[in-house]
Amino acid sequence: MKLLEYEGKEIFGRYKIPIQKLCGVIKLGDSPDKLRLEGPGPWVVKAQVLAGGRGKAGGVKLAKTPAEARELAGKMLGMKMATHQTQGKALTVGEVLVEEACEITREIYISVVMDRKESCPAIIASAEGGMSIEELAHSHPEKIIKVPVDVEAGLLDYEARQLAFDLKIPQNNFRDFTRLARQMVKIFIDLDANLVEINPLVITGDGRLVAIDSKIVTDDNALFRHKDLAAKTDHEASGIEREAKAIGINYIGLDGDIGCMVNGAGLAMATLDTVKLAGGDAANFLDVGGGASVEQITDAFQIILRDPKVKTVLVNIFGGIMKCDNIASGVVEASRKVKIGVPLIVRLEGTNVKEGKAILARSGMKLEQADSLWEAAQKAVKAAK
Ligand code: GDP
Ligand code: MN
Repeated sequence: MKLLEYEGKEIFGRYKIPIQKLCGVIKLGDSPDKLRLEGPGPWVVKAQVLAGGRGKAGGVKLAKTPAEARELAGKMLGMKMATHQTQGKALTVGEVLVEEACEITREIYISVVMDRKESCPAIIASAEGGMSIEELAHSHPEKIIKVPVDVEAGLLDYEARQLAFDLKIPQNNFRDFTRLARQMVKIFIDLDANLVEINPLVITGDGRLVAIDSKIVTDDNALFRHKDLAAKTDHEASGIEREAKAIGINYIGLDGDIGCMVNGAGLAMATLDTVKLAGGDAANFLDVGGGASVEQITDAFQIILRDPKVKTVLVNIFGGIMKCDNIASGVVEASRKVKIGVPLIVRLEGTNVKEGKAILARSGMKLEQADSLWEAAQKAVKAAK
């Protein structure tokens, strides 16, 4: 799960990583009057979207007066924004962060990532921050410093000091920097994160070290031991994806128009491939789970049909643990509870498949059966067109 900048900075604050003074976060529907804009300014107004490159896309603005800060925040809220990291799509700015701005004399890049090759966390840092680290890695790989970290011991003092020397951190900021680097590693480990990034970490006009951006990505597989993180809204997930998650269905929305209901992740992926091969595009990846009970099938139909793009539903279920006749009864019963207003293609295979098909045939339901996945995919593509 990716955290928004202000969510990451809340965590930074708890770990004593220096951040700018918060003036408030406003959400869609909030008035910018809510912002606490005291002091001399200036202020920085920042779009809270899950993408970097906001600076260049108009998502980071400086304001000299409280009135200007309120005006900029109000305008930014609800704005559509595409950055070089949003793959051509525009994101709606649902929240805006306002903080006291700082004067910047130097920008540094620092992050903690999982080094899969070395099987340990690693600090990635560069004395040249602010710009895209991917670009720098490409054009000047020698400017990137990598420090492997022992997951048990964390970043050791001498390692942090060596990093500070390598980054040419000024003497005045040395202790703050070594503490910050060690705290970043601590956050990475405590949160089961995949990434903890500060880009840029700056040295201000008055000589302080401040994290002016944050990017934290946590590992969903470890969410069960982070109740506070699990309770947070996953800003990257669509509304349908969040609903599916809440009822225990594995669902990922896609761009096509064929809704797929499948049991098992492997079969679901094979279904997507086969639909593609048949000339169509799936509207989703959906794994109802191994059991595929009536409740699960009903829930799954409801979730699939919530997507207005869906023009046909393809059910591809393998009766292994659950027998095909039970699944067929489940589909029939679910179809009584959920109005399926689009063509339905069903392919059953496995134990008691004959009985299952007979149940579907007798049900009087409007559906087409298929004997193979290939046939089912072709029928679904045809129905969607
Ligand atoms: P990103 O572009 O999405 O990564 O957003 P950042 O939070 O990193 O901000 C982008 C750039 O805006 C930074 O690299 C800074 O140059 C500038 N910026 C952000 N906050 C401040 C601030 O408080 N003062 C000044 N002077 N510049 C800022
Ligand atoms: Mn940044």
